Amino acid sequence: MSESDSQSQERITVVLPDGSELEVDADATVEDCAYEIGPGLGSDTVAGKLDGDLVAKEEPAYDGAELEIITDGSEEYLEVMRHSAAHCLAQAVERLYDEDAVKLAIGPPTDEGFYYDFDNLEVDEEDLADLEAEIEAIIDEDYDIEREVVSIDEAEQRLAGEPYKLELLSEFADENDTVTFYKQGEWEDLCAGPHVDSTGEIGVVELLEIAGAYWRGDEDNTMQTRIYGTAFEDESDLKDFLERKREAEKRDHRRIGNEMDLFSIQDVTGPGLPLYHPAGKTVLSELEGFVKDLNEDAGYDYVETPHVFKTDLWHRSGHYENYQDDMFIFDVGDDEFGLKPMNCPGHAAIFQDHSWSYRDLPIRYAENGKVYRKEQRGELSGLSRVWAFTIDDGHLFVRPEQIRQEVEAIMDMITDVLETFDLDYEMALATRPEKSVGSDEIWERAEDQLESVLESHGHDYEIEDGDGAFYGPKIDFAFEDAIGRSWDGPTVQLDFNMPERFDLNYVGEDNEEHRPVMIHRALYGSYERFFMMLIEHYEGRFPLWLAPEQVRVLPISDDNLGYAHRVANEFDDFRVEVDDRDSTLERKIRAAHDDRVPYQIIVGDNEEDDGNISVRDRFEDQEYDVEIDEFREHLEAERDEQRTEPDFLQ
Ligand SMILES: [Zn+2]
Ligand SMILES: [Zn+2]
Repeated sequence: MSESDSQSQERITVVLPDGSELEVDADATVEDCAYEIGPGLGSDTVAGKLDGDLVAKEEPAYDGAELEIITDGSEEYLEVMRHSAAHCLAQAVERLYDEDAVKLAIGPPTDEGFYYDFDNLEVDEEDLADLEAEIEAIIDEDYDIEREVVSIDEAEQRLAGEPYKLELLSEFADENDTVTFYKQGEWEDLCAGPHVDSTGEIGVVELLEIAGAYWRGDEDNTMQTRIYGTAFEDESDLKDFLERKREAEKRDHRRIGNEMDLFSIQDVTGPGLPLYHPAGKTVLSELEGFVKDLNEDAGYDYVETPHVFKTDLWHRSGHYENYQDDMFIFDVGDDEFGLKPMNCPGHAAIFQDHSWSYRDLPIRYAENGKVYRKEQRGELSGLSRVWAFTIDDGHLFVRPEQIRQEVEAIMDMITDVLETFDLDYEMALATRPEKSVGSDEIWERAEDQLESVLESHGHDYEIEDGDGAFYGPKIDFAFEDAIGRSWDGPTVQLDFNMPERFDLNYVGEDNEEHRPVMIHRALYGSYERFFMMLIEHYEGRFPLWLAPEQVRVLPISDDNLGYAHRVANEFDDFRVEVDDRDSTLERKIRAAHDDRVPYQIIVGDNEEDDGNISVRDRFEDQEYDVEIDEFREHLEAERDEQRTEPDFLQ
């Protein structure tokens, strides 16, 4: 028997998305598997997914792999096409600029498009049109995109003069004998793919912006030039995307935060360390108060823990072994300390300091706990990625049979939050992963209870099989903002591990010691993320109860200044200001509008004579001859009922 015969007799099994199994030759590629399923699918194959990783169709399948075939109808197709568009961008750059001077770094697809990083490239926004035209030409030239498997030595020669590529290559070389190149026309790149078959298959490409980016996201490295772009199958998809992008930019929390003087992040105080200004802290305080009321109604006790602990605690909690790279750790004298990345261990330590009877449980601790996580500097952005943030944290210690009632109560609180802010949401239950701690019995019992809570909640949910943490199942919320974007929201996480590590127990009815289950929960998640999301959701036009300035009194002339202050006094229960600047009424209205104040009270001679006011809202509706008492009563109701829009004039 020849060697190839003996090989072809070996068979492997791959698992298809519908759960069925497919037996193929041991050396079958992703594309071979697709042909095995059907010739139509085979010829439509663009790429594949093996155990969730996007791979080239030429990659071999392996025994037991979950296999998905990617065609131009798949969601992942855009990602593949955008990666190919990134190659076209690099090709265009090398055509239009000094090929020997410009050094290529990396060019991956992203959620919204792609980028390519270049060193030694001088380019500005005005040059993007030329680059776009060149990319279009490359698409029109319709080059085949050819994959080639190359030895490490050969690759080294081809990449001579490209220091960044050589650095990447040397890392691949540690684990592989060969690498792949993708070639289109005169241009080629060291790249794992996958790609579309030819440049002609790329639809429309738009270059979006130029930014600086450190090689490998490390600020000790060279700053390179990053060009961002996106690609879609057709013009109309691109138009929709640009429209959404404009809308998102209009709502950018960094810009609005600056305009409304809500917060700042400064070089001198450090990256990812937000400073809340008075207006921002006013909004935060309202958010804190809202959660405090919910917590107190639901029987939580507030605790407080410091920002830093001895690392003994982090050893006990497991953070030292598993989370150290994301922590700020430092020595003080002979002891080692770490800023807290999570509040849970502190709360577990409080619980541990007592002896508990089954009658005491559940114990519910709440804390607005500031935590510190060392994100990569290059990843930091506004309030969305920060080093210091505050979680509206809560930890419960419950008997296993209390999981259902407690999670139900938490879900009610979360629903309350989402409805108050007018956010749509989705829920998912993440279940036991392959590697986990805790007995079968406790997992089953916990998952059953979570499922029955979700069932009775009456809102659709997904089950994410095997996506739970190793220490317990969880329910995740994602909310959708006013322009349809999805954000990570609250979570309810069960934990069978930390009670073990801290040796937590309570004395049961049987007089024996038992382990409680720990539940981690947050209603907002982090204040920073939630605040950011609210700024963008409302475009800075907060509901009255949250608005940093709720009412502004605008005197028509200086003669009405005294009356303006008397009127303001009538609203001293609210955050009210008088615009006493020497300026025209039109300008004052403009300023109040820009500051996104929900209501303006306008007072002139007529109002003063009648002892009345004129009321103007942020929709620019205005009503004259309003009685002060009537308006104040309305404001109280609008604030206390936490209505989302000013509705006195609506
Ligand atoms: Zn590539
Ligand atoms: Zn926790």
